[in-house]
Amino acid sequence: MQRLSIVSYPRIGAQRELKRWVEDYFNRKTTKDDLLSRSAELKKLQWAFQAEKGIDFIPSNDFSLYDGFLDTAFLLNVIPDSYRTLNLNELDTYFAMARGYQDERRDVKALAMRKWFNTNYHYMVPVIDDNTEFKLNSSKPFDEYSEALELGIRTKPVIIGPFTFLKLSKVTASNKTYFDCGADILKVYKQILGKFNAMQVEWIQIDEPALVTDLDKQDIEFFISLYQELLSSKEALKVLLQTYFGDIRDVYEKVISLRIDALGLDFIEGEKNLELIKKYGFPKDVILFAGVVNGKNIWRNSYEKTIGILNSLAASIDKERIVLNTSCSLLHVPYTVKNEINMDEKFKKHFAFAEEKLDELVELGELFNDASYEQNKKYIQNVSLIKEKAEDTAYIDLQIRQRIANLKESDFSRSNRFEERTGLQKERLKLPVLPTTTIGSFPQTAEIKEIRKQYKNKSLSFEQYNDKIKEKIAQIIRLQEEIGLDVLVHGEFERNDMVEYFGENLSGFLFTEKAWVQSYGTRCVKPPIIWGDIKRTKPITVEYIAYAQSLTSKPVKGMLTGPVTILNWSFPREDISLREMAFQIALAIKEEVTDLENRGIRIIQIDEAALREKLPLRRQDWNSHYLDWAIKAFRLVHSGVKHYTQIHTHMCYSEFEDIIKEIDDMDADVISFEAARSDLSIIDVLKRNNFRTEVGPGVYDIHSPRVPSKEEIRQAIIKMVGKLDKNKLWINPDCGLKTRGMEETVQSLKNMVAAVEELRNNP
Ligand code: GLN
Ligand code: ZN
Repeated sequence: MQRLSIVSYPRIGAQRELKRWVEDYFNRKTTKDDLLSRSAELKKLQWAFQAEKGIDFIPSNDFSLYDGFLDTAFLLNVIPDSYRTLNLNELDTYFAMARGYQDERRDVKALAMRKWFNTNYHYMVPVIDDNTEFKLNSSKPFDEYSEALELGIRTKPVIIGPFTFLKLSKVTASNKTYFDCGADILKVYKQILGKFNAMQVEWIQIDEPALVTDLDKQDIEFFISLYQELLSSKEALKVLLQTYFGDIRDVYEKVISLRIDALGLDFIEGEKNLELIKKYGFPKDVILFAGVVNGKNIWRNSYEKTIGILNSLAASIDKERIVLNTSCSLLHVPYTVKNEINMDEKFKKHFAFAEEKLDELVELGELFNDASYEQNKKYIQNVSLIKEKAEDTAYIDLQIRQRIANLKESDFSRSNRFEERTGLQKERLKLPVLPTTTIGSFPQTAEIKEIRKQYKNKSLSFEQYNDKIKEKIAQIIRLQEEIGLDVLVHGEFERNDMVEYFGENLSGFLFTEKAWVQSYGTRCVKPPIIWGDIKRTKPITVEYIAYAQSLTSKPVKGMLTGPVTILNWSFPREDISLREMAFQIALAIKEEVTDLENRGIRIIQIDEAALREKLPLRRQDWNSHYLDWAIKAFRLVHSGVKHYTQIHTHMCYSEFEDIIKEIDDMDADVISFEAARSDLSIIDVLKRNNFRTEVGPGVYDIHSPRVPSKEEIRQAIIKMVGKLDKNKLWINPDCGLKTRGMEETVQSLKNMVAAVEELRNNP
């Protein structure tokens, strides 16, 4: 029989139980013991489930109360003194690192959070400082192994490897880079391996996803020296070196010369892995964990394609030395399609979430061992299922496809150059210097949420709902006039989420009820699924925006979500390219832009909050695989507007340095950036690059309830004016205000306006 493995399993619980338990603990509604015993039950349930399905290599230590990377920091004792000296118990110290800590006397910020490779998961960034002393600080991996063993299940403990840990941590220690931490960290890893060995653990999985990124000579040498040393004292315990999210082209040759027992490679995103095996061979005494079941997307596996890959692997590697594996952790997909009670079976049968992916592994194992698999019922059924979707004309829109095929270069450009347009826009808008505005949403109060909920469960008719939303719009327009903002917004009260709201009004999207995916800590997202070709079925935002504009003489911005963000925060199709989907969405949003313009809206903001999200992990792929079409998709949305219509966009993460030219090339008239948290360092980046587009680097951080003072904002503006052309600067908070409370929002905005007025009067 073919052996089966998964890289890691989701842990938030099929009903998001863990989220609730942890949040209850935060809110002191439950005790530590409750939290731990409930989590223990959840872990047991999941191990038993995987065992029952027939998975041979069941992971342990993939569970986490908050974040696996933070667990690793804790395990290695990478705990800055600011947390240690709080003198909390172990669990609360851990949560203090995750979320910060505040009481009457003390106030410590959380560790920074960063995107986990090219996913929408976020990990906590460990800090290695002068006082860091690497040592074994937790028994979690060993305890979890023992907990599973009590059930009679011998798991494969999973830990983040030393290379990835160091590469993704922040080293603040003086005169140190991550290379200097190798010897110290290795001592702990050796201890971990030794301990597992003593426990007679058979396999350990060491995750090194950093191997799929661009590595220079120094990185490679460092990695190899780490592993030569680590594996030199290896005893009976077998080591699986696991990679995912790409291929390991920079190190493959060296990796196969290491004393590892197994190598895990991703054959879904790892473009070159198969080629590498063909070219350099695969060692006779090593087992290949072949990642052939997609851990990131939710479509049924194509058995035809997968058996094809496996057969070509079998040409170089003995079949019994190939273990069937997921391409990466199943953390990035929801639990089970079974929870989608209201979804039509005709859709459901095309999806495989985590549980269904286990079944796929089992079936693939059987087929790979079946010489006449093509006659196997399971194979035949799968082939016909995949074919059915590919040939289903009901979701193909020939007209849209034709429109995309016919696009010309000129469809991606506005007819006037930036320099020609700005003067005309300024004349029309008549805004003061340093115009003030917000990013779009205003606080989503309990009242607003209740209105939307009542409409959803039909206790409000559309008319009633519409009246209430309009009332809220009128209030927020009045409030913004009172505060004295220059460019107003309608507040986005009708939106639950900036992607789902648009998806619901476009054909081609499917929505789920329970398909939650962990984004960070206790936060989950529920991405829509792109099922078919996309088209706007009716105007989406036009009525509310036009209504808001009718209430004031100041310009109201039309607020839209851009195509790249809608695409990146959905589960994409696999039968057409990302580019094609982005262009389809772009054409739909373009219609919205045209309608807004025709209704007299003078400023239109097209948010691309998630532009950076799917930037490929390797620089050489940035343009050809992504930016070339992503920037074009955005340009396509606004290329048709009149020169006097001002186009804005907004972006969330502050790491833009390396793609700043491409961002300028989006050819918007104004861009607002999230910048407050990064100390406005974006200003220098803009200056260095002679950024052409007008900019609004956020002058205060909206991710905390803290109210910034007038003076603080004034200083931020002075800093900006000192480096950038004053006539190209906008003043705004750094993101939407929907997660904030009303009181702090009003006070913060008043301070912002007062700071600007003072500077206008006394420049
Ligand atoms: N316009 C959106 C808002 O204000 C933008 C949100 C975002 O950048 N994530 O909420
Ligand atoms: Zn934002």
